[in-house]
Amino acid sequence: MAENPMLKFVNVPRDMPEKRDASQRREDFNEIYAEYADAKAKEQASRCSQCGVPYCQSHCPLHNNIPDWLMLTAEGRLQEAYEISQATNTFPEICGRICPQDRLCEGNCVIEQSGHGTVTIGSVEKYITDTAWEEGWVKPIKPSVERPETVGIIGAGPGGLAAADRLRRAGLQVTVYDRYDRSGGLMTYGIPGFKLEKDVVMRRNKQLEDGGVTFVLNCDVGKDITFDEIRAKHDAVLIATGVYKSRDLQGPGSGAAGIVRAIDYLTASNRKSFGDEVPEFESGELNAEGKRVVVIGGGDTAMDCVRTAIRQGAESVKCLYRRDRANMPGSQREVQNAEEEGVEFVWLSAPKGFSGDTVEGVMVQKMRLGAPDATGRQVPELIEGSDYVEDADLVIKALGFEPEDLPKLWGVDGLDVTRWGTIKADFRTHATSLDGVYAAGDIVRGASLVVWAIRDGREAADAILDYVGKAAKVAAE
Ligand code: FAD
Ligand code: SF4
Ligand code: SF4
Repeated sequence: MAENPMLKFVNVPRDMPEKRDASQRREDFNEIYAEYADAKAKEQASRCSQCGVPYCQSHCPLHNNIPDWLMLTAEGRLQEAYEISQATNTFPEICGRICPQDRLCEGNCVIEQSGHGTVTIGSVEKYITDTAWEEGWVKPIKPSVERPETVGIIGAGPGGLAAADRLRRAGLQVTVYDRYDRSGGLMTYGIPGFKLEKDVVMRRNKQLEDGGVTFVLNCDVGKDITFDEIRAKHDAVLIATGVYKSRDLQGPGSGAAGIVRAIDYLTASNRKSFGDEVPEFESGELNAEGKRVVVIGGGDTAMDCVRTAIRQGAESVKCLYRRDRANMPGSQREVQNAEEEGVEFVWLSAPKGFSGDTVEGVMVQKMRLGAPDATGRQVPELIEGSDYVEDADLVIKALGFEPEDLPKLWGVDGLDVTRWGTIKADFRTHATSLDGVYAAGDIVRGASLVVWAIRDGREAADAILDYVGKAAKVAAE
């Protein structure tokens, strides 16, 4: 009887792709993990126990058919693995790189629960699609029919692009509007290259362009074109504008020079990686070189800022967070990477104020964790008399993002929003309160993840196809 290629987790230990040495990583913005060699990808895929009820799949927002593409990889049938993987995920190589797998698929792998170490699902997913690109298995977008209906998509982030891909494949005429000069949204200008190299994103942008999606870049909706104009031009509209209003710091001195927003800091750094002229970087305003940097926040954006500052040659980099390590929202894997690279975490600490017209120091208050609140999270409480000053030449605020007031900004009546300012949309169809207008990604969910934006974009595209199809039928009757 042929040997079962799977269930090898008992004898084969979990092994991630090789991670570059921290001293080398600090010197550039390249990704930190190497690619699996073919034999290693096969070996790691073969650890899967092919669960009848695969919790990995149910905890993947795209419900990727993980057991099947792991088995095909283990059997060396990579092209088939790729076909299955891309059927549910528009950008598998991107998710394989940047999904917080420890909270999604891998965190729910039964092998992890049984103490053997999770199957390295994300790394295998990345390997499959990177190989598919190398081998020419990723086919251009070529609709079998051209349809007359047009869709306007506002926002070229993962939500907008996932929808554009699906709609264009169905033959619709798709125009994507974005205020930036490059597509990709936060995948291009937010997430640093050491997590997601930029050519991986640009390759996808090109695929969409070559497939007939029209991009109108440097176009700020609400300024360069009105929302009503876009609505009048298209049979349906998708809003996928993300959330960009940074939460701010309070306290004396919080307006001092040298205190900057994380999104501005990361965008400048990403633009430098593209070779763009960035005056705020050249002037030193958004450059950490030679500075004592303090980043405030404990989420993934804060992790990206501290690790960027290290690579820019900061003298020291500290991350201030008001809870402790176990209660931070950012990924534990990223904290470990940051520590390896030389970042110091100052847990249970919050800023009280800032000294200097150009910032010189952060007044820090120490905290302890008190009783849990209604959400079950322990509330940080002040420890009286524990204040001290942390020297700083650059302070980066990474406290999270909120939605802009789109109905007001765009002068749109009848576009309903929630009490948090996110757009109200049906959770299955993503239809908003306006006829023919849909919304997807962070602008609906609040700051979330690329994989959720992809799911929303795909679902919204399906609902739009349904909508324009019905409208065409009514028009023909
Ligand atoms: P976005 O990616 O924000 O794209 C929105 C697009 O709309 C942008 O291109 C913007 O320019 C455009 N736009 C906005 N307003 C207008 C307008 N008026 N006119 C024209 N265009 C407009 N997620 C992960 O899964 N893994 C990670 O590791 C990760 N790291 C992150 C790191 C950082 C620093 C940040 C900020 C976020 C990170 N995220 C991560 C979250 C993830 O990037 C977002 O959840 C995701 O990009 C949301 O996709 P989206 O399409 O809704 O919006
Ligand atoms: Fe895991 Fe993300 Fe891939 Fe789903 S898309 S299998 S959550 S890495
Ligand atoms: Fe394989 Fe783990 Fe998924 Fe089970 S939960 S099918 S072992 S990857």
